[in-house]
Formats: sequence, structure tokens, C-alpha cells
Amino acid sequence: MRKKNFFAGPSVLPVEVLEQLRDQVVDYNGEGLSMIEASHRGGMFENMYDECLATLRRLLNIPDDYDVYFLGGGATLQFTMIPMNFLLPGKVADYAKTGSWANKAASDAAKIGKVNAFFDDKEGNYTTLPDPKSIKPSEDSAYLYLCSNETIGGIEWQEFPDTGDVPLIADMSSDILSRPVDVSKFSMIYGGVQKNLGPAGATLIIMKHSMLDRRNENLTAYMDYGLHAKNKGLYNTPPVFSIWAVKLVLDWVEKNGGAEGMLKRAKEKSALIYDVIDSSSSFYRSPVDKRYRSRMNIVFRLPSEDLEKKFVEESTKEGMLGLKGHRSVGGLRASLYNALPYEDVVALRDFMVEFERKNG
Ligand SMILES: *Cc1c(COP(=O)(O)O)cnc(C)c1O
Repeated sequence: MRKKNFFAGPSVLPVEVLEQLRDQVVDYNGEGLSMIEASHRGGMFENMYDECLATLRRLLNIPDDYDVYFLGGGATLQFTMIPMNFLLPGKVADYAKTGSWANKAASDAAKIGKVNAFFDDKEGNYTTLPDPKSIKPSEDSAYLYLCSNETIGGIEWQEFPDTGDVPLIADMSSDILSRPVDVSKFSMIYGGVQKNLGPAGATLIIMKHSMLDRRNENLTAYMDYGLHAKNKGLYNTPPVFSIWAVKLVLDWVEKNGGAEGMLKRAKEKSALIYDVIDSSSSFYRSPVDKRYRSRMNIVFRLPSEDLEKKFVEESTKEGMLGLKGHRSVGGLRASLYNALPYEDVVALRDFMVEFERKNG
């Protein structure tokens, strides 16, 4: 029997996709060759890749003047590439420090240029977000940066700021394609694929083509977005296996209602768990500002660390994996990515109710 997979990343994939990969890994569509042993300069890969990008454009409604491709190096490499390309001398980059991931991005950027943290909820332990309407970029802003969903802290932007002429850049690693977004509001959206889109290895880049005019043109090859855009992401060998799996996941998303369908699923699934937390008088507790609760990563606490340990042990015995919170913040966390079946969340809900009854 398959485990119920609540890991934060790498994370659950649709079973159908795993089965398709299994069935086709030796012989792709009767070609007598595997996708992962074929040249990335050959038709077999290129057809699959083109379909993958076209599906992504459809699902996210990406305007034509945006480049879409995949890089290696994880989302983490983007923490460096973004300021290297866009944080030019005399400019400042505006960062919302909202938790582990945005803060890492801000601290990498600060090694390259001037950073203005226009929001920093250190005092509140990163449990809330700024009101998007209150946000104004700095005078000399190169870009305004945010992380749409803090995977570790469990907070998610519900609306995004209007930054006018200043490019808005978002790390959407952990909530990409869990809801429709207006891509045209952003100059760049990126994310590691290993949360909602596929197995680890590829990082999705969606960038408005005109951003390239603002970049530092004097960078080494791999660091230069211009080179990747020009080569459609095929300047060097792309993470072929990961991209192939992403393509299959995207087909699965499309079959299941697209971004709207994923939003509906995310609302239904997250409500099951938040309802248990909210109806519990003092047993389950969510540290996060209700207005910004994440639908992807639900962080919660129990009255004691001993009980949290017991919760993890007993849920693991029930085949529910990955419920321990991130080591940096403790507590518990349930990640409910797109591919996680509704029934698995029902099982977690029932387990939580029973656990409170026995230990509350
Ligand atoms: C997982 C994650 C990252 C880091 O991704 P890597 O691919 O491991 O570099 C960055 N940002 C967010 C929001 C994440 O969830």
C-alpha cells in the first residue's frame, strides 16, 4: 500500500505519473529508446520539451512576451542569479523578509548589492505578511522580491502588490500551479519543481523578455539569463528526467481542471485540517495569521513537544509520512501539494481528531 505522503519536498507525485514513467522508462512511446538516454538536441526530447512548455503556458496563461524554460541548481541558485543579473550598482533591491526562504534570498542578494528589507517579521517569528496595498518600492528599486508561499513557516500571499514600473519577482516554489495567478503582474516567477510540479532537478523560470534589457550583460555563461532565454533553456544539458516527469504532471493537472481545479482541491483539502485546528479549544494551535494561512503547508503545534513527538511516531505507524515540522521551527507540518489525494487528507483529519480525543 502507498504511504500517505505529507513531505514538504521532494514530495508526492500523482500515481498515474509514476506509472507512466515506469511503463515508459525503457522504451519511450515505442521509439526503442528511453527519454533519459536520448540527446537533448534530438527530436524525441525536443517534441516532449515543446509540449511541456506549451502546456505550462496554457495552464498558467503565460503571455507571449515571457520566456519559459528550466535551469538546474534548484531555487537556491536563483537567490544568486537574480541579484547578479538585476541588482546593478546604484540600485537597491526591495525584499519582503517573510521567513526562511525569502530571508535566504535576501541575504544572498545583500552579498551582491544593496538590499532594502521593506518588511521583516522577525519579532513575530514570521507569522504574518505585509498588506500588499501598503507596499511601495524604493526610489531606485531594481526589483521587488517576495516568496509567495513560505514552505517552512506556512504563510502564503493571497494577493500581490502592485509595483508599477518596478519589476515584481516571486519565488513560487511551493505553491506554483496550486491556483491561478496573473502572470502579467510579475516580471519573473520561478520555482524548484520538486514541490508541486515533479521530481527534483529542474527549476522553472518564467521571465518577461524585456527584463533582459535591465540585466548585467557581463556575467559568466550559466549565470546570464540572456543566454538561457536565447537558447530556450537548452544552452547546456537540461535536467531531462525531471522535465519529462514535469510534462506528465502538467498533463495530469490539465486533466484535473487546470489551475482552477487545483485551487478547488487545495481549498477543500486545507479546510479539512484547518477546521480541526480551529475547532480544537487548546490542543491544536496554528501560529500563523489567519489571513495568510498557506493552503500548501499547514504548520501547527500541540501543547507540548512530547505530544508532538508522539504525534509523529503514531502517524508514521499509520503510514502518514513527513508530518514533523522543519528542524528550524519545530512543531508539525502537513504539506498538501496538488498531487496529494483528498482521501489522504481525510485520513490525517481523522487521525488528528482521534489523537486529540486520546491525548487532549
Ligand atoms: C524548497 C524551496 C526552496 C529551495 O529549493 P531548492 O530547489 O532546494 O534550492 C526555495 N524556496 C522555496 C519557497 C522552497 O519551498
